[in-house]
Amino acid sequence: MALREIVKENMEFLSKKSRPVEKIDDRIIELVGDMKETLIKADGVGLAAPQVGILKRIFIVDVDLDKKNIMEFINPEIIKKKGKNDKYLEGCLSFPGRSFQIIRPDKVVIKAQNLSGEWFVYEAEDFIARALMHENDHLDGITIPKIGKEVFD
Ligand SMILES: [Zn+2]
Repeated sequence: MALREIVKENMEFLSKKSRPVEKIDDRIIELVGDMKETLIKADGVGLAAPQVGILKRIFIVDVDLDKKNIMEFINPEIIKKKGKNDKYLEGCLSFPGRSFQIIRPDKVVIKAQNLSGEWFVYEAEDFIARALMHENDHLDGITIPKIGKEVFD
């Protein structure tokens, strides 16, 4: 595994839409391993493939916030968003040192493939739901400077 460079402050690249993963081959497995290592090093909660320069529909999220259970979501689809719309501050490894007020629902149900190609359904709320929606947005070229209001402290 190797660290990958995180794309920073590049709105043009980060606004591109990612393509589906057609085959989970060795290159994808290596990419996901590298993304996990990169996420741990950067001490982040989630990372999407376009953030390391790869326009493929993959993201990872540290769902237990302990770096021991970093889940991969390949070809993810949000199947339900529910709950109240909360306003909350979000940061992003691609926009270091900046925070934005973002409104999102507080629950999400998501369907995705794991590294074995198996489909699973994952349900989350609050902070992790928000992280899943944030990372999923990256795959559609949506970043927090586009949808939020920057907060300066
Ligand atoms: Zn982000």
